[in-house]
Amino acid sequence: MRKVKGLSQQARDAFAESARAHLIQPWPVAGEIGAESRGGIVSGNGIYVTDIEGRRQIDGPAGMWCTNVGHGCEPIARTLYEQAMALSYNSPWYTANDPSVRLSERLANHAPGDLNHVFYTTGGSSAVETALRFMQFANNVLGRADKKMIVARQGAYHGSTYLSASLNGRPRDHDWMDSAGELVIKLTCPNPFRRPAGVSVEAFCDMLVDEFRNTIETYGAERIGAFIAEPIMASGGVIVPPEGYLDRMRALCTEHDILFIADEVVTAFGRLGHVFASKEVFGIEPDIITFAKGVTSGYFPLGGAMISSRLLERLRQSNHADAMFAHGLTYSSHPIGCAVAETNLDLLEGGILAQARANAPYFQAQLKSLEDLPLVGEVRGLGLMACVECVADRESNNPLALDLEVGKRIDAHCQQLGLLVRPLIHMCVMSPPLTISRPQIDDLVSILRQGISLTQDELTREGLW
Ligand code: PMP
Repeated sequence: MRKVKGLSQQARDAFAESARAHLIQPWPVAGEIGAESRGGIVSGNGIYVTDIEGRRQIDGPAGMWCTNVGHGCEPIARTLYEQAMALSYNSPWYTANDPSVRLSERLANHAPGDLNHVFYTTGGSSAVETALRFMQFANNVLGRADKKMIVARQGAYHGSTYLSASLNGRPRDHDWMDSAGELVIKLTCPNPFRRPAGVSVEAFCDMLVDEFRNTIETYGAERIGAFIAEPIMASGGVIVPPEGYLDRMRALCTEHDILFIADEVVTAFGRLGHVFASKEVFGIEPDIITFAKGVTSGYFPLGGAMISSRLLERLRQSNHADAMFAHGLTYSSHPIGCAVAETNLDLLEGGILAQARANAPYFQAQLKSLEDLPLVGEVRGLGLMACVECVADRESNNPLALDLEVGKRIDAHCQQLGLLVRPLIHMCVMSPPLTISRPQIDDLVSILRQGISLTQDELTREGLW
């Protein structure tokens, strides 16, 4: 592993002590809120970041699925400076800035169907929150105030604001947290790897669609306002749904006038090789698409919801065309965020999307080769997102005990070898910057192989596997 300059031992100690004393990091456990220090990162360049000890690491998860064009991108850095000097902020209530208007037109041109309108937010949670509040508002305006329930799926992740978090369905998401659960119905996770024994993937898909149809019958279409789905469930473990699933769920939504919200916070902006994946990859036209993360490659917090012209037209034609959508953020349409997104889009359109499409099969095939390791139950994915799922044993594919934290163990070994992993309990997610080359993919896979092998040995030594 290449060593570059890190901080001195003294500076590292001071960093850790100060972090423990004052910084609250996301998803802490009660006993450590405001009293922990996670690994420090001091710089980034291309697909690499350098940690506080001076170790260069491949950024396996691209931050949190967001650093799509890579770290240290000069055109974006220049845009940040130039836009800050040209116009650092304007009130989105009373005025509109150039970058947001230009970006909206470009996004509308990329978006499927009639998704011609953008409401900008500060990230993914606020984008999902906006989509859901808009659904509630629209149904109030259309005189059907009971049509508000939201159908989500087990295994999903949609955010950390109150309503968006109420949709989450991963282990531990609701153990200690309140939620607006009364508004939410959760369907089975469309995970072919965990389908019932003896059921084909096709029959599993039929079961999932039937479950949605039965849910609509049970609750009544007049009570269900939206179905929300990540086209590929990301934080739930890169779950690629069965062929035809999204299409058939879309058809049921259309039949029952239920809004189909595609949460593309992860899948958009090149992760699957296209600006948006709904149409290009899955052949569906949602009523709303939410996005964030890759829209600025993480260089500025920005998200948004693309909303269909047809829906807006219905509101215009309603008896309550004067009703106000009382929802807005100080940083909606932020000029710096939108300018960064324009430059980011230039880079994606200028070659990075094509590179991601060209390298995706190689990336998937190389990772798939890890299935020969006894700890690995399945490697799955699409585009430049993938997940290695470890299992207790390969005969049954039974999951490992949650408290083994196998993902964290693999991550610890990989970090010693030069790779950051996104550990998800017993899974490792890989979603590197889209600029990754084939030799770099080889490095990533080779380190991951070593990390998993070392973890296997460790578990065996400790008598845990
Ligand atoms: N939706 C999806 C699919 C996500 O993966 C995430 C974040 N991981 C969010 C929404 C929330 O985005 P943010 O963290 O930017 O609020």
